Amino acid sequence: MLEVRDLSVNYGHFTALHAISLTVNPGEIVVMLGANGAGKSTLFRTLSGLQRPSGGSAAWNGTPLTGGKPEYNVEHGVAQCPEGRLLFPDLSVEKNLRLGAFVHRKDPAGTNKELERVYTLFPDLVQKRNAPAGSLSGGQQQMVAIARSLMARPQLLLLDEPSLGLAPMVVEQVFAAVQRVNEAGVSVLLAEQNAYAALGVAHRGYVMESGVLTLQGTQQELMTDDRVRSAYLGV
Ligand code: ATP
Repeated sequence: MLEVRDLSVNYGHFTALHAISLTVNPGEIVVMLGANGAGKSTLFRTLSGLQRPSGGSAAWNGTPLTGGKPEYNVEHGVAQCPEGRLLFPDLSVEKNLRLGAFVHRKDPAGTNKELERVYTLFPDLVQKRNAPAGSLSGGQQQMVAIARSLMARPQLLLLDEPSLGLAPMVVEQVFAAVQRVNEAGVSVLLAEQNAYAALGVAHRGYVMESGVLTLQGTQQELMTDDRVRSAYLGV
């Protein structure tokens, strides 16, 4: 499981995360709701080993994630799908996917096998495999970004704002894909501003405001919470 305890992150004198604690159990989709600037990306960057915390701990199945070595975290089962996708637009879809398998570069047979597995989860990408990633629609590019993270064979996927900039119908397709990934055995921590779509697939969630976790609950509890409904569901 993911166990985050009293995790704090400072940027100079500014504290972006104030001793937050959370868990993700194996098999769960957990959503982190929060507005722009709440600290979701800071949390994800820290869990990926890109940002050193100033206090507290984070571990996946007992392996510390805070050593500041992103490749180590990927090797130990934690992969991030970053906000904004960050694909190589001129490279083919398949080349983008293969880049996600960098940590398994000594196992090309395993990577080929994983590629086929990923295509079964994202069947729409099969006919696009030789197309430049930049030629795909926004929704398809998001699918490529998620598929690329899976090429690292993670047990825990950190998925940052997958709905960003997508039309509502496309958002639904992306979240259906997230559910398929989860059903294939990958735990997911999802950062989202689109609470409605995210709570549709999440088992549990947290609300982050200015670097503090202000609420937590099951999907049902959060969906029916008045504060969540007015701040994040617009009802
Ligand atoms: P977004 O949805 O825009 O990504 P977020 O919830 O992910 O928002 P963060 O990007 O984690 O929020 O930012 C949290 C806070 O930390 C914000 O106030 C932001 O301005 C600040 N911050 C982020 N990165 C830095 C940095 N490198 N230096 C200083 N402050 C930063």
